Amino acid sequence: MPELENLREAREALLSHFTCQETGKCCEAEGYVYVTDKDISGMAGKLGVSVSDFRAQYVQKDGPWELIASPTFRRRCFLDDQNRCQVYEHRPKYCRDFPHCPEVWQTEADAHSELKKCKGLQLAYEAVFKRPYSPTGESFATETPPEPRS
Ligand code: SF4
Ligand code: SF4
Repeated sequence: MPELENLREAREALLSHFTCQETGKCCEAEGYVYVTDKDISGMAGKLGVSVSDFRAQYVQKDGPWELIASPTFRRRCFLDDQNRCQVYEHRPKYCRDFPHCPEVWQTEADAHSELKKCKGLQLAYEAVFKRPYSPTGESFATETPPEPRS
């Protein structure tokens, strides 16, 4: 069987099979979650509070930008006790873009780092490669090829 040629091919195969399992693992990572006015409006509506109250309670300014989580501000963001995002349907674009964002796929090491944490990517890996994900760190080019999604 031919091998995957490169990381781009693995990315396309895995993302075509990806479904978020709502584990909240990506929300626990140390990072910055920047938001737009539209994000804020959606989340405020979901929580049933006014935009100004939302900003006062959940938003921090960072220069010209606004954020709802950072290593020093609201580390668990909107995760509840079950690790579920309380604003999931209205989560910011920044969150919705994961794991499609380029940062995840810059290098094979980056991709494996996210695969180790993300149940949705691990299930996609199982669907594509027909075996459980094992974080070996080896090149995707050594893997068997993806099945086209019907
Ligand atoms: S780690 Fe993956 S499966 Fe879990 S919430 Fe984040 S994107 Fe979804
Ligand atoms: S808004 Fe929801 S999905 Fe985004 S980081 Fe916060 S808890 Fe996670």
